[in-house]
Amino acid sequence: MASKSGLTAEELFKSGQGITYDDVILLPGLISFALGDVSLETRLTREIELKRPIASSPMDTVTESNMAVYMALLGGIGFIHYNNSIEEQVGHVRRAKRFENGFIMEPVVLSPEHRIEDVDRIKSRHGFSGVPITENGLMGGKLVGIVTRTDIDFETDRSLYIRDVMTRDVVTAPKGITLEEGNRILKESKKGKLPVVDEDGCLVSLMSRTDLRKNRDFPLASKSPSKQLMVGATVGTRSADRERLEALVDAGIDVVIFDSAQGFSSFQIEMIKWAKKHFPDLQVVGGNVVTAEQSVGLIEAGADALRVGMGSGSICITQETVAVGRSQGSAVYDCAGVARECGVPVLADGGVRSIGDIAKAVAVGASCVMMGSMLAGTDEAPGEYYYEGGVRLKSYRGMASREAMAAGGDKRYLTEDEQLKVAQGVSGSVVDKGSVVDYVPYLMQGVKHTMQDMGCRSIAQLHDGLYDGRVRFELRSPSAQREGGVHSLHSFAEPHRLPRA
Ligand code: GDP
Ligand code: GDP
Ligand code: GDP
Ligand code: 5GP
Repeated sequence: MASKSGLTAEELFKSGQGITYDDVILLPGLISFALGDVSLETRLTREIELKRPIASSPMDTVTESNMAVYMALLGGIGFIHYNNSIEEQVGHVRRAKRFENGFIMEPVVLSPEHRIEDVDRIKSRHGFSGVPITENGLMGGKLVGIVTRTDIDFETDRSLYIRDVMTRDVVTAPKGITLEEGNRILKESKKGKLPVVDEDGCLVSLMSRTDLRKNRDFPLASKSPSKQLMVGATVGTRSADRERLEALVDAGIDVVIFDSAQGFSSFQIEMIKWAKKHFPDLQVVGGNVVTAEQSVGLIEAGADALRVGMGSGSICITQETVAVGRSQGSAVYDCAGVARECGVPVLADGGVRSIGDIAKAVAVGASCVMMGSMLAGTDEAPGEYYYEGGVRLKSYRGMASREAMAAGGDKRYLTEDEQLKVAQGVSGSVVDKGSVVDYVPYLMQGVKHTMQDMGCRSIAQLHDGLYDGRVRFELRSPSAQREGGVHSLHSFAEPHRLPRA
């Protein structure tokens, strides 16, 4: 057989020198399939499958309910940050969980004795105005009518009783019907809502036509079996975080990340064991780790996935400040190798600046890639846009920046009880990227191009090739890196920004 160009991953990483995304280039393979045939399906944890290998960082300038909703709709997942009160974090989870449904098991209900202004209140609080009316105003009460937007749109007197505006003759479905049957009745009735009732006419659940549309418009959405969007959240590893985790599980999170900059600690090991014992259905991500030993330690404690990265984040000054950490390419490769033997996927966290970096993270073993700076400038990230020097920006800050720590973010860096705080992150801004609804599919299309050029149809196939030596790499000299970038031009347009729709 002819000799092969480039290096295997094993050869690439064995020198002991820290290697990061910029240091490597992926060599091409044989293309024998169309771009559309590339699958980006992957696993986030032992149990959770995603259609797209991306997650948004649990940071207060990146992921709250809106980002979590859209990351899940687009096939990835968002992790709600915990630089807030338990109530606030739980509120974000609940909002994201309510966004899409199969059967809405706890719909907001009113009685005939309520008034139109109560529907207005529900509309401003939750965003919907389709309300089933039960005799006693409670879920499980006898269904006597329904109120929707159409019933109250043009009514100027908002103090009118619901009993005077509601529709009494309601199309319902019997308890026990399947989602498919319910969807069929919804389509045929041409109504926006379908209450499900038991044999006594008492309300059991509600279905909404809007959810059928959402399902059609976002076919890649990451959903739990209830058809609600998957939502992740983050907590610390102190004993007080157990109360927070209980509240989050109660609100329906699918997966939790235990958030520590250096995750290999007795606190985290205890926390993982406690969580797996108390919430056997909850998927648990341990981290952050960057070495094989740390990885094995957290996997043995029960972690269902590992979050890998220490000091590679764009806002991060850990490597300079405390001089502990690792180059991200080496960290991902090392941790993914041992995790794979245990059937545990790895989430490459931080340091991603381009489509190519996402692809390289996956190529060195990550099953999923977590991003902060790439997503912080989108419409769905918390915070408002502002202008500086004519450029439209959003704030983006490290969770261990002085600013975020002042708001509660020092939990992660074990400095909570200390008088003196050492910042391990900075605060800054990122450029407007428009909506993730355009941006994420664009990033993912780019990753499909990488996979096609490498001759890999799926992430599973890419990872097989990584470990059996078929996937080939080359180290890039500083001049190779310069050559690979744009050069010799007087000026050029920023490549990574989509025009706004
Ligand atoms: P899918 O891949 O998300 O469509 O999930 P399934 O293949 O499990 O779909 C089973 C049935 O559930 C199909 O009839 C879908 O149209 C329906 N379905 C999927 N998601 C939703 C949803 O969010 N709301 C409602 N009402 N139906 C849904
Ligand atoms: P509406 O016509 O004003 O009720 O609102 P839409 O039908 O446009 O949006 C309703 C969305 O909110 C759907 O995706 C529902 O699944 C979701 N939702 C979550 N919880 C509830 C609830 O308690 N009642 C209603 N009506 N919708 C809910
Ligand atoms: P909207 O477009 O968000 O207002 O929602 P709908 O399509 O659900 O409602 C339109 C009108 O139909 C309103 O007057 C509702 O009260 C009424 N309506 C909703 N559900 C039913 C039903 O099952 N039967 C009948 N007859 N009317 C309904
Ligand atoms: P980015 O995608 O912006 O390069 O990196 C995001 C990641 O940086 C986060 O997911 C998190 O792991 C890490 N991170 C967030 N805030 C801080 C911080 O203040 N200091 C450090 N060292 N890392 C941070």
